[in-house]
Amino acid sequence: MRFVRFQVNGDAPRVGWLHEDMVGEIQGDLFGSFRRKKVSVPFKDARLLAPIVPSKILCVGRNYVEHAKELGNQVPQVPLIFMKPPSSILADGGTILLPPQSSQVEHEAELVAVIGKRTRNVTAEDAKSHIFGYTIGNDITARDLQKADGQWTRAKGFDTFCPLGPWIDTDFDPSDAVITCRVNGQMRQMVSTRDMVFNIGTLIAYISSVMTLEPGDLVFTGTPAGVNTLKDGDEVVAEIEGLGMLKNSVKAEGA
Ligand code: ZN
Repeated sequence: MRFVRFQVNGDAPRVGWLHEDMVGEIQGDLFGSFRRKKVSVPFKDARLLAPIVPSKILCVGRNYVEHAKELGNQVPQVPLIFMKPPSSILADGGTILLPPQSSQVEHEAELVAVIGKRTRNVTAEDAKSHIFGYTIGNDITARDLQKADGQWTRAKGFDTFCPLGPWIDTDFDPSDAVITCRVNGQMRQMVSTRDMVFNIGTLIAYISSVMTLEPGDLVFTGTPAGVNTLKDGDEVVAEIEGLGMLKNSVKAEGA
C-alpha cells in the first residue's frame, strides 16, 4: 500500500492512503493500528506534502563503489553515517533553492527506508522487520562547502536540500531496483540497489548500535555515481523502478 500526507483546500495536513487516482485519510497511528476512512478525494484535488515528518534523517556516504571513486574516496570499512535536519525536507514538486554560499550544489538520488518501530541494537537480519516502507529521496549537497568544512552539516543541511516522496510504499522490494536521476530529461545517474556496499539491514543495524531510531525516521541508503551540479531553472527527477518518481525544480535563492 502507498501512504501519503496531503492537504485539501489548504486544510490541516492529513495522513492518508493512495489507491489509483484517489486519496483517503486514515484514522489512528500509521505505525500502530489505524483504519482507512471511507471518504476519499480525487488525487488531483489533493496537494501532496512530504510523506513523513521524521525525528531524524540518517544518511550514509560512499555506499556505492563507483560513486566513492568519482569523488576520489575509498569505500569505507564500516558505514560512514551523517544526518540531515528535518527542516531540509521538501515535498515532491517543491523548489530546491540554491544558496548564495555555494557555487556547486549537486543532486544525489537515493532509496530511503522509513522506520516502522522503535529500533535499538538490532541485527541486520532483524532490521528488516523494523522497516515500514520505502520512499525516494534526493540528498542535495553543496559539494564545495562539504569539501571546505571537513564535516557535512552545512553542506547537507540547507532548507530544501531534502526532497522526499511522493509516497511511502510498504510493498516495495528494495533488493534489485534501478535508481535513476535525470536533469532536464538527461540521464545523470543510473544503478541497481543491488550494488550497495552495505545493504539496508546492515546500515540500520549499524545506526541502531549508536542511536535509537523512532517510527518515521528515515535512512537514506547512499547515492550512485553520476552526481553533478544543479543550476537555476533545472528540473531534477529521481526515479526508482517500482517505487515512483520524485520531481523538483531548482532556483537560485533570491533570483
Ligand atoms: Zn547522499
